[in-house]
Amino acid sequence: MNRLFAVLSGISEASLYIHIPFCRVKCGYCSFFSVPSDQAGTEHYIEALGDILAQLPDFKVPTVYVGGGDPGILSFNQMKHLLIALERFSRSAGEFTIELNPEGITQELLKLFADYGISRISLGIQSFDEKLRSAIGRTGTVSAVDRSLELLKKTGQFAVNTDLITGIPGAGKDQSVRDIELLFSRFIPEHISLYELSLEETAQISSKLNELEEDTLSPAWEYLKDAGYRHYELSNFCLSGYESLHNSRYWKLKPYIGIGPSAVSNLPMGDVFLRSTFAKDIEQFIRYGMESVSEEIIDGHTCLNELIMVSLRTEEGIPVELIDRVFGSNAAQIVTDICRFWKAGGYMKGSALTEKGMLIMNRIIIDFFRQLDAAAPIYLREALDTVF
Ligand code: SF4
Repeated sequence: MNRLFAVLSGISEASLYIHIPFCRVKCGYCSFFSVPSDQAGTEHYIEALGDILAQLPDFKVPTVYVGGGDPGILSFNQMKHLLIALERFSRSAGEFTIELNPEGITQELLKLFADYGISRISLGIQSFDEKLRSAIGRTGTVSAVDRSLELLKKTGQFAVNTDLITGIPGAGKDQSVRDIELLFSRFIPEHISLYELSLEETAQISSKLNELEEDTLSPAWEYLKDAGYRHYELSNFCLSGYESLHNSRYWKLKPYIGIGPSAVSNLPMGDVFLRSTFAKDIEQFIRYGMESVSEEIIDGHTCLNELIMVSLRTEEGIPVELIDRVFGSNAAQIVTDICRFWKAGGYMKGSALTEKGMLIMNRIIIDFFRQLDAAAPIYLREALDTVF
């Protein structure tokens, strides 16, 4: 039996991520694994996904997330086939999200989503400025965005997240605020993800890296908070009660299983995590299914580093008490001392980053890693599978 299956059989719950690795056209800045779609390819892919889902043991699934790529690329029948295959897990999930690009949304599809219990739609808008969209090689048009928002407003059945991008070279400091204003003039989403283009992504579309010096995040953060959104994670804002439950589980290292090329699973297994990753190869996935997975063991020390990295992104910050309980008082003391140092400069409050700290998050994370790595080995006091 595949080891991932074996571990999954022994745990009480895990979130489920399904990767649809197809897009209409590849956007210029994209680092996700996806290829331009063709109908025959998607057909075989959905069949292979269905086979794997049918083989999975029963376990409790608190959240389901279908992402990509662009799940909206699937034909109506392929989407229905996928939702039927997922029903066994999604039926009792507290949140069921699907990512879509605006051009893929139809009334018929929204009705299908409602019938199969999808509760949340994550819409990739990125920007309302046609020139900037073409500068980053983004497909689709603003009129397609408008049409999709109209349909979502009319349906009114889903919590909606909208993805926006900031830091586009040459766009100027106020680009994100302008985009948010244009969004609010059309639609008020429950959730907004505001992503800054990474250096690697920017390098793919422009050589003007010096323009990244400008802080394009703070004005947008202020604007969203004034509009009543909670800045609960570095790139995420929500109206009260609309946090992404699925992503929140990633930020707490809760168990999850990802299915599809490039998808990752992370499951606690005694004193370590079993990290499994599907090869970035659609052919292999279709032919070999779970056998196209590679495995890595994440030890306690690496787990602690990862916990710090993900929890620093959140408004709750680092769970120092949990670190004390699981990794011991020595580790907790080091973490507390580092927090105190950064607090003095206004970069942290308690064990969480302030917005000033978020702007230099990578530097702060490296400081935690360096000091924890230099300390004595971290010994686990509790097995990871009893905690996560
Ligand atoms: S639609 Fe999304 S996943 Fe597909 S290429 Fe564009 S950014 Fe990447």
